[in-house]
Amino acid sequence: MTTAFVYDPFERNHSFPGHPECLERMQSSWALLEADGILDSLTRLPNAPAPLEPILAVHDAAYVEQLQEICHGIEDPASPSNRSQNWDQTALWLDPDTYVLRDSWEASLRAVGGLLQLTDEVMSGAAANGFAMVRPPGHHARPHYAKGFCLFGNVAAAARHAQQKHGAERVLIVDFDVHHGNGTEEMFYDDPSVLFISIHQFPHYPFSGSIDEVGSGPGEGFNVNLPFPDAVGDPGYLAALRQLVDPLAREFRPDAIFLSAGFDGHWMDPLSGHRLSVNGYAALVEELLDLAEALCGGRLICTLEGGYDLNALPHCILSTLRVLSRNPAGVSDPFGAVEGNPRAADKVISAVKRRLGIR
Ligand SMILES: [Zn+2]
Repeated sequence: MTTAFVYDPFERNHSFPGHPECLERMQSSWALLEADGILDSLTRLPNAPAPLEPILAVHDAAYVEQLQEICHGIEDPASPSNRSQNWDQTALWLDPDTYVLRDSWEASLRAVGGLLQLTDEVMSGAAANGFAMVRPPGHHARPHYAKGFCLFGNVAAAARHAQQKHGAERVLIVDFDVHHGNGTEEMFYDDPSVLFISIHQFPHYPFSGSIDEVGSGPGEGFNVNLPFPDAVGDPGYLAALRQLVDPLAREFRPDAIFLSAGFDGHWMDPLSGHRLSVNGYAALVEELLDLAEALCGGRLICTLEGGYDLNALPHCILSTLRVLSRNPAGVSDPFGAVEGNPRAADKVISAVKRRLGIR
């Protein structure tokens, strides 16, 4: 059994110069993966734009229509490589952080499409696990609106797809992006068939994700937030996985585990202060892979969310792929850990346990 990988270069058409969520993220990552040679050991999946059905399972139809109209109403198809272009005429802003270009419609359909391809491959048993290197990211997109660089909820659409197409009854989504996965949370807030666990910096963008957001109605207890103060580093995230994600997952008994893999908590990342290392991220992925192997036949389906340092991100992705494929080369971390003691995370973990009634 192999590790599947999907990357669709169409994403290059969705990029705004100077914006942190830009094509250079994938350019630098792809260059490292190619130079390393790891791609030869993975199952490369083809990609196509996602059909609308799985997107409409988590988004309002009016928003989906509006997004298509807005993108296609932009006359000048921007060429991201042409830096002399008049960008005021080629981009529109859906919120202060979220741009769209004419090709953003297709790029966002292809981001969902890539993760759906991967989901099919893993859920059908053709691959053991996998990683979708897609952009734009998805976990901030709300059912009715774009937010925080995200247009469609990629992981939410894929989780629903795993349920509706592959008969998964219970799906666990772990989100270790440094920002709260507000969109994913909102899409499953009253749904006990999807356990959503987000580990994030707090207070920090998008300023949601408190301990008290535990789900509603039948979904109460199936939404778990770990809002950590800054600088908790690798030990804080590992403790969250071992002390909370692990027991909650064993009780929930998922049929598949999805990972919203944002690497923007790395200590070199410009958008956060959580100070994780590449080694730390690899350890988190390994814990989740072990958990998936213990609980659901190893079905760990990972998708890229954030990660904005153009040097750190490629090594985070390469190391994730090495862990998923049990590659003996191990972690690739030329940057090491940041100096100084990490801040303790135990208080938050204890508070979450108390809120959820876990001993
Ligand atoms: Zn993020």
